[in-house]
Amino acid sequence: MTDEPDLIPGIYIYCDRWCERCAFTSRCLQFRLEAQENVSGGTLQNFDALNVTFWLEIGEALVQAMRLIREIAANEGIKPDDLQNETVFSEPPVSHYRDAREHPCASAALIYAGMVNDWFATVDEFSETEESLLTNPPHTLDEPIRVIRHYQYFLYPKIVRAVEGRLGKQVSTSAELETDACGSAKVALIAIDRSLAAWSVLYGEYPSQEDSTISILLHLDRLRRALEVVFPDARAFIRPGLDG
Ligand code: SF4
Repeated sequence: MTDEPDLIPGIYIYCDRWCERCAFTSRCLQFRLEAQENVSGGTLQNFDALNVTFWLEIGEALVQAMRLIREIAANEGIKPDDLQNETVFSEPPVSHYRDAREHPCASAALIYAGMVNDWFATVDEFSETEESLLTNPPHTLDEPIRVIRHYQYFLYPKIVRAVEGRLGKQVSTSAELETDACGSAKVALIAIDRSLAAWSVLYGEYPSQEDSTISILLHLDRLRRALEVVFPDARAFIRPGLDG
């Protein structure tokens, strides 16, 4: 299988492990090894093309999310420059920490996971129906909710791994550690972007939850900017097959 030219070596190393929504299943060895059934290449290519469209739509929602965050910040009296300079989770420097799990970005990712649970629990609590939003979402919100749920617990381990790579680099000159740190930070940043896009779709759908939705959007946006400060090369990192 490794001799197949269409397969992209190492594509699965810095992916988001969401094969159901991946646009590269036909070119991923890991997917083929884990697939329960022997699916034809043509079927996978059609599946991949649908997922390309899905992520293009999420990309458009991200533009909307960024606009929304600027509006929210303006309403709260935060100037655009202040928003850009606010790097609350990026201090003190990584060298201050002995354990990656103590880094503020890791803590912020855990806090975010809890905020998501609280948000959905509150929606269910005040729902006029007996059905949970998570198990029976309205059709139009099904996909954004899936995006949020997929990345909810994905962020923390990726950020911890990225910080671990940076901590390891302090005691070693290994380029591999720096590469791993940037690759892990990049996939965490992509997960945040997509989560922001999904939350921007939910914003407005639940007026009674507006304050907590705003808190989540601002929290995620702060985490995004802090990661970009801690890992300034992450956005430019080229993941095998997925970027460029
Ligand atoms: S690259 Fe895609 S198909 Fe392969 S493991 Fe990652 S998400 Fe799944």
